[in-house]
Amino acid sequence: MNGGCLCGAVRYKSDAAPVYQLYCHCRDCQKVSGSASAPIIFFPVQGLSIEGQVTYYESKGSSGKSIYRGFCSKCGSQLFGRLERLPDLLSIRAGTLDDPAAFHPQVHIHVSQAAPWEYIDPSLRSFPHDVPPR
Ligand SMILES: [Zn+2]
Ligand SMILES: [Zn+2]
Repeated sequence: MNGGCLCGAVRYKSDAAPVYQLYCHCRDCQKVSGSASAPIIFFPVQGLSIEGQVTYYESKGSSGKSIYRGFCSKCGSQLFGRLERLPDLLSIRAGTLDDPAAFHPQVHIHVSQAAPWEYIDPSLRSFPHDVPPR
């Protein structure tokens, strides 16, 4: 799968299959995206290549561990998430894929923090808090 930011300065490519595909409804994802939730695909770090200048912003997740959210240093597009808790994975915002149809969401997480004005597809499993164990 390939993708990149709005201005094209950052490009990525994964040779490996996704591990998780989900919507995160936590407040931090709402803040950083300006939207109701974040569509996220987790890939194995191995097999992933990133080109271009990415800036990472650190915050603490609900587990107390660090989350580093990466955005294009030029245009600000939100692209990546590195989780201290899941060091072998890297998350990518599905909206940055060259082919958005490649995103196949499986679950909703952190729905306890979902915005009251958001519609949540009831055909997918929902979890009030974090992603379920692998
Ligand atoms: Zn950019
Ligand atoms: Zn989130």
